[in-house]
Amino acid sequence: MKTCLITTKTYQNHDNGPGHPENVNRVTSINTAIDNIKNTEWVETKNFSTKLIELAHDKKYIEKVNNSFPNNGLAFLDSDTIVSQGSKQASYDAVNSVLTAIDNVQDGSYQNAFVSIRPPGHHAHSNFAAGFCIFNNIAIGACYLVKNYNLKRVLILDWDVHRGDGTAEIISNKKNIFLISSHQYPFYPPGDGTEKVRGHFDNIRFFPLKAGLSSNEFHKIYEKIFIEIDKYQPEFILISCGFDAHKKDPLAEINLESIDYEYLTLKLKKYAGKHCAGKIVSVLEGGYDLKSISESSKFHVKSLAKI
Ligand SMILES: [Zn+2]
Repeated sequence: MKTCLITTKTYQNHDNGPGHPENVNRVTSINTAIDNIKNTEWVETKNFSTKLIELAHDKKYIEKVNNSFPNNGLAFLDSDTIVSQGSKQASYDAVNSVLTAIDNVQDGSYQNAFVSIRPPGHHAHSNFAAGFCIFNNIAIGACYLVKNYNLKRVLILDWDVHRGDGTAEIISNKKNIFLISSHQYPFYPPGDGTEKVRGHFDNIRFFPLKAGLSSNEFHKIYEKIFIEIDKYQPEFILISCGFDAHKKDPLAEINLESIDYEYLTLKLKKYAGKHCAGKIVSVLEGGYDLKSISESSKFHVKSLAKI
């Protein structure tokens, strides 16, 4: 079976203003890097009811976001989360792309999927935007798996270098969703990123990473993470796939090489094969050095596509 690749037609219309690290070039360079990889296929994004966003966000917040998109120029949802006129469709299409990927993997049409989208989502809380994120794409996807497919154990593995604080807040009281986040700590975002955070249903595991961490040290921590994954026996795996733990990333201080994303992906696939027939949907979050994210995403998608 092939790996499904999804992007949106509208990601280019989400404009954060000049000089912003979260810009169009990120997704464009990833899409170029992962194009034409053997055993992959681009798939069109389907439309879903916007009601599904309410699985993870308060109605009032969604209303606030809908009223925030300017007719021209830019508007601020928080100090670094900006919207332009085109952000509305881009945000909705990002969510639609994740749900399309989930349907395609869950119904067995594809072995797994990579979703190349912006805006990212994992810092978006149920009731506020933050850290370049408007809707929490991955949390909506996880809730959709529980609601639509009646899954009991959905795993989100967040290997973006920043803590998935929005995801943690949203899924904390959802007993069928389990979040593992590895993140540089102390660092952005503010709040508790220590191992003490466990969620209302003991459904969160945080793995704080010290600034300057090497690739080898990172692998050692991931050995513990894979034990947690094995114990949880997920029925479906979602990845909050940031590439910003790379040593060249300008927004963090962890020292992964591009090839580490091959190691992470292949190892995770082993556990996905054991517990959930290989079902993985990987969703782009951060990563801000264009060369590193191109290389890293290529390693990631090649590994996903490997039979
Ligand atoms: Zn990040």
